[in-house]
Amino acid sequence: MVVVMAEGATDAQVEQVVGQLVAMGFDVHRSTGAARVILGAVGGSERAEPALIELLDGVREVVRITEPYKLASRSFRPEGTVVTIGDVRIGGDEVVVMAGPCAVESEAQVRAAAAAVKRAGAKILRGGAFKPRSSPYSFQGLGEEGLRLLRWAADEQNLKVVSEVMDVAQVELLARYSDVMQVGARNMQNFTLLRELGHLRKPILLKRGIAATIEEWLLSAEYVLAGGNPDVILCERGIRTFENYTRNTLDISAIPVVKKLSHLPIIADPSHGTGRRDKVAPMARAAVAAGADGLIIEVHCDPDHALSDGAQSLFPAQFDRLMAELRIIAPAIGRSICVEPVTRRGWAR
Ligand code: PEP
Ligand code: MN
Repeated sequence: MVVVMAEGATDAQVEQVVGQLVAMGFDVHRSTGAARVILGAVGGSERAEPALIELLDGVREVVRITEPYKLASRSFRPEGTVVTIGDVRIGGDEVVVMAGPCAVESEAQVRAAAAAVKRAGAKILRGGAFKPRSSPYSFQGLGEEGLRLLRWAADEQNLKVVSEVMDVAQVELLARYSDVMQVGARNMQNFTLLRELGHLRKPILLKRGIAATIEEWLLSAEYVLAGGNPDVILCERGIRTFENYTRNTLDISAIPVVKKLSHLPIIADPSHGTGRRDKVAPMARAAVAAGADGLIIEVHCDPDHALSDGAQSLFPAQFDRLMAELRIIAPAIGRSICVEPVTRRGWAR
């Protein structure tokens, strides 16, 4: 850290700060300018709190110069991480799309959605079996039966599965049915859950918390990585701001910021990021253009009757069209996207 002393700080004050830093294990390099003294502190304890130094008399400001996360930081793996799920690679050249309903509702619903998203080029089927709903009276998901239906529908279409784990007690069950375990926004700082997922050998899709800073998000990823699980995929899903025209504010700028700070792949969720079906495609296009490694998108064959998040779920024809647009955008920034046969059906809606 760098400690900037106040103008007019006394020698005794400077000595007191140096003494504290040395006691914390730092090597201190002093630079005396015309107006003030600047102390560069190198090494030291991981636990050293800049705020403790800031409280000392004569200190104007303390600036931290290294990130508090290590394993998640770009410098730990400068070439970037590619998370492999069978033949699907997230973080490589290809932009990977995960799609499907918000929640698994019935066999017919999830099978129809799986067929539709597969046809359009998705590689991973999404669907919640345990739903974190704001109200306890809303549909909570089908539980294990939902997972069974999701897995079956995915296998039928040769898709991978991503589904949300809400609690430590569900980890074993989720791991049995899904290829990627989603940690939802509300659980981003459930440190007990993150530690448990650190012991798994399955990729974790870590959504950004509703009001989390990028640093807090990367520290949550650090919990999983520190437990020994190297496969974390970050997901920007919108944060809460003062703007309420959209459900959340999708922070597209988080994509290049995370790319610089971390080696972990990052995808975007324009469905929860906007909450409105008509805003999903523009934000999905923007996310890919900004360098996202993938997208997770809610698609439902009858969204007007969906049991959750119908307003933000795309009709299959809209999803088809979006995929076709992404096939134009991705190559423009040196990426590719699945070119499975796309049947151009009516794009009426
Ligand atoms: C979801 O993916 O359906 C979901 C609840 O997401 P989030 O945790 O981002 O709200
Ligand atoms: Mn949802």
